[in-house]
Amino acid sequence: MRVLVVEDELRMASLIRRGLVEEGLSVDVTPTGEEALWKAQGSDYDAVVLDVMLPGMDGFETCRRLRTNGVWTPVLMLTARDSVEDRVAGLDTGADDYLVKPFAFAELLARLRALARRGTQERPTVLEVDDLTLDPATRRVWRGEREIRLSVKEFSLLEAFMRRPDEVLSRVYLLDHAWDFAYENRSNVVDVYIRHLRSKIDEPFGCKTLETIRGAGYRLRANGGR
Ligand code: CA
Repeated sequence: MRVLVVEDELRMASLIRRGLVEEGLSVDVTPTGEEALWKAQGSDYDAVVLDVMLPGMDGFETCRRLRTNGVWTPVLMLTARDSVEDRVAGLDTGADDYLVKPFAFAELLARLRALARRGTQERPTVLEVDDLTLDPATRRVWRGEREIRLSVKEFSLLEAFMRRPDEVLSRVYLLDHAWDFAYENRSNVVDVYIRHLRSKIDEPFGCKTLETIRGAGYRLRANGGR
């Protein structure tokens, strides 16, 4: 089993390396995300241990770029604290699992073995509705050939619609599926983001895909609103 460890703190990096080598694993260590990218692309690792806090490109960005570059090696993220935001952000970027520092070495080993057993995951299915295309793996969206830049929330919202085209989705449903946390001001947050989405996926293309269903919610029309 071959593992790439991405960690800039020397003490932590050598601790992990020593422990894994003692268990008979083959280990490469790199202190930066930039170096991790070309190493992971050039070699066949069974798993990557990726620290979130790195100089330059952080662990989140590194993971995102790995996936964008088509590297699907299982990634175990090391996060500094048990923050839900960190965890969600990590899994959002395509990480497979996470471990909170400080951790017991036995736990790291067990998680790594489990990830390597599972093997490289299939990339999630690309969603298509009419000429809208959404790739959950790389978090990219296109209408026809043209790529559309969306914020994290706009993306989650559109994904919820594209998983259930032509169905009327209530504001409560959309909040549950596109927002991870309870929002203080829930009243109009969905409406605000619907407006943002329309200005990006519809208006520039002369479409009316996102329909308001009075008193019920919203619907993404499968025929592109034409
Ligand atoms: Ca670090």
